[in-house]
Amino acid sequence: MRQGIRQDTLPGRRRKPSRHAEGSPIRAGEDALVEFLKDRFPPKKPALEKGIGDDAAIWRPHGGEGLWAVTTDMLVEGIDFRREWTAPEDLGYKSLAVNLSDLAAMGAAPRFFTVALALPPDLTGRWVRRFYDGIAECGDGHGAALVGGDLSGGGTVVVSITAFGESGDGKVVCRSGARAGDLLYVTGTLGRSAAGLELLRQGATHPRAAAQREALRAHRKPEPRCAAGAWLARSGCVRAMMDISDGLSTDLPRLCAASGDGAGAGMDAEVFPERLPAFAPSSLWGCDPLALACDGGEDYELLFAVPRARRKRLLATYPPDLPAVTHIGNMVEGRGKVWLVASDGRRRPLPPRGFDHFAR
Ligand SMILES: [Mg+2]
Repeated sequence: MRQGIRQDTLPGRRRKPSRHAEGSPIRAGEDALVEFLKDRFPPKKPALEKGIGDDAAIWRPHGGEGLWAVTTDMLVEGIDFRREWTAPEDLGYKSLAVNLSDLAAMGAAPRFFTVALALPPDLTGRWVRRFYDGIAECGDGHGAALVGGDLSGGGTVVVSITAFGESGDGKVVCRSGARAGDLLYVTGTLGRSAAGLELLRQGATHPRAAAQREALRAHRKPEPRCAAGAWLARSGCVRAMMDISDGLSTDLPRLCAASGDGAGAGMDAEVFPERLPAFAPSSLWGCDPLALACDGGEDYELLFAVPRARRKRLLATYPPDLPAVTHIGNMVEGRGKVWLVASDGRRRPLPPRGFDHFAR
C-alpha cells in the first residue's frame, strides 16, 4: 500500500566522525540510514544481545534465562496505506501483524505491545473502535496483549506500534548466521500482497474470483508467521532468518550483508527463479508473478538459511500444519549480491527493486 516517497530531515548530531559521515544517509536510502544509526548508537553490553540492524533487538533480562525481543513499525497514511482503500479493522490488524512478523523473524513469541496513534479530527469514534477491533483480533490470535500507548491529533492517520516478544529458552535466530553453502528457504507464497495492491490500483476493491480475494486478503490482513518462526528457531536447522517485508530482492541482500562482514561483502545468494513460490494467478490481472515474487514486498513470509547437513532433518520434522517451506536458492561466497540462476546455469544479477522509503 506504499505510495509515496517521504523526505525527512536527519535526526540528531554525531558524537564522532563515522564511515558514513559523507552525505545524507536518508538520501542514500533506508539501509544507509540504518548503518548511520548503528554507528551513532553502538550496542551497550552486556544485557543487549542484538542491537540495531536486525528484525528486532534482543536482550537478556538481568538474572533471567530467556531472551526478550523488541521491535517497532509505523504505518503512515498516504505512504503505507490509503484510507479510502483500507477498512479500519484491516488497518489495525495489519499494523500489529507487521510488528509480530519481525518478532517471528527472530523466533520470539509475541507477548505485549503498545500503540501510538495520530488521528485527524474528521475520524469518528466508530472508525477508532473498528481500528482497535482489528488490533484485538490480531493480538488475540497470536497471544499478544495491549499494555499501553499514546494518542495525538494529526493531519493524517499514523500508527506506530512497539511489540515485545519472548524466547523462554533463549533460542533466537538473527540475520547474521548464514554461511556459504547454506540452503535458502522461504515460507508460503511470494508476490501475493503486491498482486492485491495491483487489484486496488485497478479499482477492484470487491472482486468475486477466489484468487483475487486471496490476494486482497494477503495485502490487507497479512498473517505473521509466528508459529513457523518459533518452530524454526527451536529446530536447530536454521542459522539465519528474517522476514520479507520490502521484497526478496531488497531483503535478501540485507541477509547477505549481515552474514558477511556487515558491510555487504563476503556472501552472495543465488536464487532459482523456477523454484520461487510465486503467486501465479496474478498474471490473470496483468501482473508478472515472478517480478512480484522478487520485488513485490509486504508478503511477511520468513526467509531463512539452512546448513546443507540439516536439510533432511528440516524436511522430516517440519510440522505439516505450518505454512509450506520452499528451497529457493543457496548462499555462496561473494560480495553481498543476489543472482538469479536459470535452469541452464546462466546467472544474472537481481537488483534490489523492493520498497525503500528514501530511495529516489
Ligand atoms: Mg523485518
